[in-house]
Amino acid sequence: MDSDERYHMTADEFRRVGRSVIDWIADYYENIEGYPVMSQVKPGDIRAELPPLPPQQGESFDQVLEDVERIILPGVTHWQSPNFFAYFPANTSGPSILGELLSAGLGVQGMLWQTSPACTELETHVLDWLVEMMDLPEKYKSTSSGGGVIQDSASSASLCALLAGRERATAYASNEEGIHERLTAYASTQAHSSIEKAVKIAGIGSSNLRLIETDETYAMRPEALARQMFEDRQNGYTPCFVCATLGTTSSNGIDPLERIGPICRAEGVWLHVDAAMAGTAAICPEFRHLLRGLDYADSYCFNPHKWMFTNFDCDCFYVAERKALIDTLSILPEYLRNKSSETGQVIDYRDWQIPLGRRFRALKLWFVIRHYGIDGLQYHIREHVRLAQEFAGWIEQHPDFEIAAPAPLNLVCFRHKNGDIFNRELLDRLNQSGELYLTHTTLDGEFTLRLSVGQTHTEHRHVERAWTQIQQTAKVLENSE
Ligand code: PLP
Repeated sequence: MDSDERYHMTADEFRRVGRSVIDWIADYYENIEGYPVMSQVKPGDIRAELPPLPPQQGESFDQVLEDVERIILPGVTHWQSPNFFAYFPANTSGPSILGELLSAGLGVQGMLWQTSPACTELETHVLDWLVEMMDLPEKYKSTSSGGGVIQDSASSASLCALLAGRERATAYASNEEGIHERLTAYASTQAHSSIEKAVKIAGIGSSNLRLIETDETYAMRPEALARQMFEDRQNGYTPCFVCATLGTTSSNGIDPLERIGPICRAEGVWLHVDAAMAGTAAICPEFRHLLRGLDYADSYCFNPHKWMFTNFDCDCFYVAERKALIDTLSILPEYLRNKSSETGQVIDYRDWQIPLGRRFRALKLWFVIRHYGIDGLQYHIREHVRLAQEFAGWIEQHPDFEIAAPAPLNLVCFRHKNGDIFNRELLDRLNQSGELYLTHTTLDGEFTLRLSVGQTHTEHRHVERAWTQIQQTAKVLENSE
């Protein structure tokens, strides 16, 4: 062996263990229902199994894989189990996993067009495809004034949108006079916590984030938004950013864009729309009414890494005016200057995001879209919605349970009528059983269970069994009281 190759994994070894890793993943999916969905370990259990110091000499990869099975698996919560109904999904699929693997194999860092033209151009192209597939506003296409980019997460997308809104409102002035502290941002009380985080990071400050009240469907009240902006202007503040949510995390509330949009237009305020989970539904024409009014939005994001069979991380972020984003985020040091960028004919995605470096995420999204086709994606999204709606119907018909919020898509919020303590205990017992995994929220101060259908392999039998377990566990609990 060439001495320079000492310690490295040889191509033959890579082939051998690589195949066994693929086999391992395939077996994992075949056997996944045998694992407790929520990991049952206690804090510190996993670390206690790991040696205190790293190995001096390299170990065999077979040994490493054995330890994955023995040490790591017990500490894994099985997000890809069809009995996973917690949070929002973070689903994946064979083509996505293979796309991720290939991306790692190519090891591309696509900060500039020049650092790997295919990384940039495939991303632009796939994001344009999605505009077509979902009938999103034409202005989000790269062939118009705007365009799309893959971010790691909806949190990053919202932060970028907020920064662009801040810069637009202050005409890119520096903050020497503390002008950022006189800006205000708006989202509903049900918006995701990432909006508050973004407001803190952007120097606007949590106290300048106005949380707008919601109606009985947990959707933002546009008249309350308009009133709050008016008051803020009266008090010398400058509204710079509104985040409307399509599919809030707690209950899948849908903010009315058709009414929020004109308010933002009239005020000249950046409107960002966060559809992290629900956005995927727009693949199906019958759900596109939820996006009505999106034409007003300066930016929009949704996460294929939630519900579109594309593993974490993959958030699609669109802007109507790419110049606004690029002017906000672009800084050009000498060492990144290059001829291709100077032609002005290429996209350098480093200017569309917070970090400089970026992975080749478009591969997995491309693989997913090509594998499933629009038909396949529509089929599974419709199935998930149908299963959630059937579950909602069972809840409605049961005398001891009630629906806690409208269920426009694949999330059902519900509770037992015996009150908070009962529901809390019910949830704990269900999750400790390992048979399924649900999480909770509070709605109007009441403890509420959430059943979110979106794991790739969830079928009717899984939802039916979850409902049987919920009823049986509630009965046992009632009898023990
Ligand atoms: N926005 C909404 C509505 C969400 O539901 C979530 C996560 O569940 C997020 C944002 C944050 O997503 P990410 O993990 O991609 O930042």
